[in-house]
Order: sequence, then structure tokens, then C-alpha cells
Amino acid sequence: MNRRDLIAAGVASAATLALPRMTLAAERADVVIVGAGLSGMHAAQLLIDLGLKVIVLDANARVGGRVQTVQTMDGPIDVGASQIGRGYARVLDAVQRYGLKLIPEDRDLLAFGGHFKDTWIDPKTWESNPLNQTVGDERKISPFLMGQVVAARFNPLKEVDDWLDPRFADLDISLRQLMQRNGYSAAAIELASHSAPGIGIDETSMLRMWQEETRGAVDRKIGGAPTRHDRQQPFGEVNDRANLLGGLATINNIVGGTSQLPLAMAAKLGDVIRLNRKVGRIEMTDSAATVTCTDGTAYAARFVISTLPFSVLREVEIVAAPNPVARQAITTMPYANTARMYLTVDRPFWQDDGLPASFSTDGPIGMFWAIDNHTGQGRHRAMVVMVGKVAQAIARLDHEEAEAFVLSELVRLRPAAKGLLRYQTYKDWLRDPLQRGCGFSLAPGQVNGFARDMLKPWQVLHFAGEHTRRLDYGMEAAMESGERVAIEIAGRV
Ligand SMILES: Cc1cc2nc3c(=O)[nH]c(=O)nc-3n(C[C@H](O)[C@H](O)[C@H](O)COP(=O)(O)OP(=O)(O)OC[C@H]3O[C@@H](n4cnc5c(N)ncnc54)[C@H](O)[C@@H]3O)c2cc1C
Repeated sequence: MNRRDLIAAGVASAATLALPRMTLAAERADVVIVGAGLSGMHAAQLLIDLGLKVIVLDANARVGGRVQTVQTMDGPIDVGASQIGRGYARVLDAVQRYGLKLIPEDRDLLAFGGHFKDTWIDPKTWESNPLNQTVGDERKISPFLMGQVVAARFNPLKEVDDWLDPRFADLDISLRQLMQRNGYSAAAIELASHSAPGIGIDETSMLRMWQEETRGAVDRKIGGAPTRHDRQQPFGEVNDRANLLGGLATINNIVGGTSQLPLAMAAKLGDVIRLNRKVGRIEMTDSAATVTCTDGTAYAARFVISTLPFSVLREVEIVAAPNPVARQAITTMPYANTARMYLTVDRPFWQDDGLPASFSTDGPIGMFWAIDNHTGQGRHRAMVVMVGKVAQAIARLDHEEAEAFVLSELVRLRPAAKGLLRYQTYKDWLRDPLQRGCGFSLAPGQVNGFARDMLKPWQVLHFAGEHTRRLDYGMEAAMESGERVAIEIAGRV
């Protein structure tokens, strides 16, 4: 049985369900879905295909959530999701069904250097650099890759769901704890704190980091690409555009920007989607629920699906039977941040100062990515990419302050860039009140604490969204969760 058969069998000839008369709500539906991101809209379409009456509520004036394409002087820029791998079965299927076009991503990063303790570092000579206080084999590891290299080296997971397997329960620990267990020097641990995947060296469970790493290896295997690759740069996978498989490179983008996908999904869903509806309260029994928005509108339903990141669901009042696991997950799940400034570089200033075009720093702007324009001359695109602790810190500044600060810090480090940087756009996901972060995290101990059980339905409330992934990552995790939750509800109808 395939997934669609399974859903179809669950509802046979689905008709609109009879709702218990619980409130005087203005509008009734079989299922109210909170959030019009990819997960919510995918679930909505599957449930509508089964004949159920669905309403999707989103607080924003646009659909897409963490998929957001901004129109700039230099054309569309994706400030949220952009990369689509070959293993994105559901996303690729949707792209095809909605008649969208993919192109191989063209975002190769120029060579990386490092700026540590106020000194420029060449990774090629780092091993013999007197600033290198690490010992033995650690000395060979590039200072701005230490966290990622160590995390990858000790990944014991083979299957994409191993991260939830109790066999690995004793690895629900931080990167610092992992390094201490394995005898790394204090200097190596200090370096790893600047490049730890996730929020930071103490804040994120290794099992959470390895979930992404293990899933990424699956994508890289497709088409015979190597399962591991020697990273030369802290982030940004190297795209293999030479060996297309079914027209797909290892990383692809949607022509016109990723928002084309949620826009196409929304166009098909039509007036099922209600924008500018911020949900403030969900009240439920074992057989029905009322969802109330901050503007006073209310919706009665047999089932509710929340796709809200727990970072914002914790602001919604939930009136229901006790559920300590869900409450703990909703209130304590940490969220990572990403803040990025998108720039045009009028002339390659790295030819003037002779330093590496791209760089990592232990200072407040994290990383500067210079993007190859394949000519070596003329205008280039660039990004300042702040993740982990750096991104948490920059979010203390409002947009204007952050923009001015990032640009001035960039010019302080690279005076040759003065007058050559043109600002395109800036996005800090932690400052977005409808997101409060770029993606879910799990602190050490939280996989064992609640991650295995947190998505069990709570009375008539079901959970979707990328934070409820089991096997996938990124946009594909959102689609995976939308499908799972549709199957759950089909099974209860
Ligand atoms: C900077 C960045 C880069 C990324 N890059 C990639 C990438 O290259 N490839 C990839 O595959 N993935 C990437 N991702 C991840 C991907 O964007 C997400 O996994 C996916 O879009 C999440 O979809 P979702 O439906 O789970 O949640 P969301 O898209 O967050 O949807 C949640 C929705 O809830 C709404 N909402 C919030 N509060 C309320 C409320 N009170 N009432 C009603 N509605 C509310 C929000 O407006 C939002 O529309 C990236 C994410 C970020 C932030």
C-alpha cells in the first residue's frame, strides 16, 4: 500500500464530519490547521483530497513561513529555504505537480580563510602556526572547522531514524561532553566552540546534530556522489553541477525563488487559507476544539493541527487535559537562529588586500561568504552569515542597528571593502515574531526527555512542522510532517 492508499483506506468515502455543538463559533471545519508554511499547506491538500473541510489560519500576510523570497535591486533573494537536494522526494514531487522549474544552484563559495584572535590565518599553514595551541592530530584540523570535523568523526548513526533509537541514549550529550569523553585538549574545545553545529558547544544534543548529518549523507549518496566530502568551508555544501541526475544537480533552486512553491500550493488551496489570523487560544475536549484568533474570530473543528514552531506555540494558550510531555516540549525546546546580510560586491576587494575572499571569524559577524561569479572580475554576490551563538547575540540589535554594525565590522576587518559593498537585504529569524528562530533544536538530555513522544496527539490536537520530523530535514521535513499528520487524522476519522 502506498501512502495515498493508506490515507484513502482510512477515510473510505470521506464526508464532512458531524461536529459536536461546542461553541457558537463563526465557522466550522473538520480540521483547522494553524500555520500556512509547507507543512500546513501539504497537510491541508492531502486532507482536502480526502473530502474533509479544512481551514488554514496564518498570522502573517503571506504564506510560506520560513520559505521567503525577497525582491531586491539584484533580483529575487531567498532569505529562508533555498536548497533542494536530490533526496527531497515530496518537495520534488510538488515542484513537478505545480509545474515549477528547478535549476542547479549557483552559489559556490570562494576560498576561505580565518580571522582569529585578531590575526589572519591560512588554513594550509595552520598546523605550524604558533597560535595553534591544539595537540597531536588536532593540529591538522582547520580552526574554523573543528566543531564540525569532530562532530562528523564520532557520528555512530547509520540509519536516518537512529537518532531516536534508545541504543544511542547515552549520546544525548553536548559536543563539549563528547570532546571531553574522547580526550580532546582544552584548546581544541575552545576552537570547537566557534564552529559547533547547532546553537553551541553546550546547547545542542549530539543526537540532534547527527540527525541532520546522517540525513545529509543519504542525499550525497544519490547518484553515486561521495558519502563524505572533505569540507574546506564551514557551511555551504559544494554543489556538483557536472553530473546531473535526471536534470538535477546535488543542490537545486526553484526558478524565481523558493516562494513560488508555497504560492502555488496556496493558489490551489484557494480560500481555505485565511491570512492575518493570529491564533491566540486552542481549547479542546476529547472530541472537538475551538481555535480563537487575537482578532476575535473563532473556528470550531473536530481536529486541529498545529504546525507552529514551539518557539511561538508557547505563546498560544492551550486549554486541555494535562499532557506534561507536550507542555515540556512546547515550553523548553530551544530554537537556533540564523541572521544573514545579502550584499553585492562591486569589485573583488580580495584582490586588493590579498586575503582570502571568504572568511570565518571568532568575532561578532561569524562568516563572510564571497560567492564565485565564475569570472574572477567584476561584481560578486556575498553574504554575511551568522549562526549559533553569533546569531543569538546579533538578535539583541534591531534591524537598523544590526545592519549598520555588520557593515562597519566587515569594513573594519577588510578596509579594502570600503565603498564596494552594496546592501541588498537582511533577515534575522529570531527577531521575526512569527518564528522566533530559524529551526528547532534539542538540548542535551531532551531527546531522552521528550523528543520520542512529543508528537503524540494531544486529545484532538495533532502536531506537524519541521520540528516534528522523524527522518528528514529542511523543507522535506516539513512535508514529511504534513503527510504524517494527515495520515494520523485519516486514521481517526
Ligand atoms: C535561513 C533559513 C535557511 C533555510 N535553508 C533551507 C534550505 O536551503 N533547504 C531546506 O530544505 N530547508 C531550509 N530551511 C528550513 C525550511 O525553511 C523549514 O524547514 C520549513 O520551511 C519549515 O516549514 P514549516 O511548515 O514546518 O514551518 P513554517 O514555515 O515556520 O510555518 C509556520 C507558520 O506558522 C505561522 N504562525 C506563527 N505563529 C502563528 C500564530 N500564532 N497563528 C497563526 N499562524 C502562526 C507563521 O507565519 C508560519 O507561516 C531554512 C530555514 C531558514 C530559516
